[in-house]
Amino acid sequence: MDPKIFREYDIRGIVGTQLTEETVSLISRAIGTFFVRHGVGKVALGYDARASSPGFSRGMCDGLNSCGIDIVLIGRVPTPVLYYTLYSRDVGGGIMITGSHNPPDHNGFKICLGTQALFGEQIREIGNIAASGEFADGIGGVESEDVLAQYCDEIRARISTGDRRLKVVIDSGNGMGAVTAVPVYKDLGMDLVELYSEPDPNFPHHHPDPTVEENLQDLISAVREHKADVGIAFDGDADRIGVVNENGRILWGDELMVIYSREVLKDYPDATIIGEVKCSQTLFDDIAAHGGKPLMWKAGHSLIKAKMKETGAVLAGEMSGHMFFADRFYGFDDACYAGARLLEILSKTERPLSQLTADLPKTYSTPEMRMECPDERKFNVVSAVAEHFSNDHDVITIDGARIKFEHGWGLVRASNTQALLVLRFEADTAEHLEEIEEVVGNFLLDLNGAVPLREAVEAARKSGDKLALADALTALANVERRPPLTRAAALRTYSEAAQLFHELDRPLDEAWVLRHIGIVYEYLERLELAEEYYDRALAMYRQHSEDDLNYANAVRYPAVIKERLGKRDESAALWQEAHDRYRQCGIEAGIKESATHIEALKKI
Ligand SMILES: [Zn+2]
Repeated sequence: MDPKIFREYDIRGIVGTQLTEETVSLISRAIGTFFVRHGVGKVALGYDARASSPGFSRGMCDGLNSCGIDIVLIGRVPTPVLYYTLYSRDVGGGIMITGSHNPPDHNGFKICLGTQALFGEQIREIGNIAASGEFADGIGGVESEDVLAQYCDEIRARISTGDRRLKVVIDSGNGMGAVTAVPVYKDLGMDLVELYSEPDPNFPHHHPDPTVEENLQDLISAVREHKADVGIAFDGDADRIGVVNENGRILWGDELMVIYSREVLKDYPDATIIGEVKCSQTLFDDIAAHGGKPLMWKAGHSLIKAKMKETGAVLAGEMSGHMFFADRFYGFDDACYAGARLLEILSKTERPLSQLTADLPKTYSTPEMRMECPDERKFNVVSAVAEHFSNDHDVITIDGARIKFEHGWGLVRASNTQALLVLRFEADTAEHLEEIEEVVGNFLLDLNGAVPLREAVEAARKSGDKLALADALTALANVERRPPLTRAAALRTYSEAAQLFHELDRPLDEAWVLRHIGIVYEYLERLELAEEYYDRALAMYRQHSEDDLNYANAVRYPAVIKERLGKRDESAALWQEAHDRYRQCGIEAGIKESATHIEALKKI
């Protein structure tokens, strides 16, 4: 069995290779043994709409029964319904079989002991039991229960809508969200427009992950088209919510939390409210300004739920859309309920959703950025960042390093689940945001070996050797241009190099650098500027022609950008020229790519 399936927050893997009938049998007996060891005799079991889920559910029943565990089988449900069963039925834990928002060939198990989701050490304990092969012995039974209807009734009973009739678009992404949200929201009197309500394990329309902007495009269009008041999206197993306002603008988790916390604080004036470490400073400030006690905590739904229990917090939320209400609800993450709370708030005001947070100070922030970093290094990088910046900044190290700057903050944290650093930045102006990103970005680059490149630049600068300096600058900029944080620095470094090559009258070197300035602008989605630099580079090649790969590339890049800018004729001519040049230097990939584009541009 692949030990990698035992992850920080769940057991998860690819069906057919990592998760087979055999491994599920082992996993289920390991989970059963874990429950026996923790004094649990009866658990709830639910599963999502994935093709492999019903089979895994049968395997799980057999395995748990063979350890002497009784099962309350609640069938195909969204994850929050499983959580609900933990509170409403006499069970000592539960298992949800779901791949959440992951691709169709993935599946997994979210496990709860009591009402708390397992994480870290407890999941490793199950892994160890599975590896040992020493399982508990016994005889258990299965009783089926329909919890779904009661769950829907209870949410309806706990929500009291006002007079305003709302038009609501919901996008379940062919996941499990509609199973509960459609009947509940209809009963709450909403005028519903449904997108992709039918559970379909192949997710034919888009991935059911509302943290990815691309996945919200259909929802945004539908909200605009139907002039709806709000759009609500769910992730695959409906424990995470995504929201767009009446203008089609996305509200990320922290902005949504501002709306929820203001409401909750009306009933619980000095309540503790938890936001994870990636949330905007405006959330924490807003909670305090409304009399609440803001608490910043680690990202991860299991960790948040544990902290809520410890602190008695009445509300918590994550950027990812996990929202936890404990004021009039059970405190677990439930997107159907969170959506209902938003509808309740909106139905009692005449103001559009966009106005509810219009008074927040405007800040500039990046989305969550990911930077690859090997597992064995990522925590060391975070420690080095914390140590370096704590010399002259406040650094919060609850989860990663959140560095406080005069005009904003930057976060560098190690992903618990992937070989990645997760980065986020926020500041009061766009300029300050860029500054903060660059300061942190430069330090990360230095950790990654950029120090000698900077030293080479300094040495060349001192020596007065222009060519050596231009070369050293180019080498540094080549490294700066890749990570998202140092692209502004790369533009400056390349520009200085271009100027030097110009003074040295080395047009082909200058052209190479100009093309790479274009590449950085293209990364930054500033297409007109990219086009300008590509054109300049190409003009220089034309004048000082050399039949080599650099020339072919100098033709290719403007061909790409002009196609993106809709300049089809110019693009087609350039692709033809690139094609000929790639042929001359025998570059297969270039020949193929250009041929494809020539064909595509001929059509239509
Ligand atoms: Zn989920």
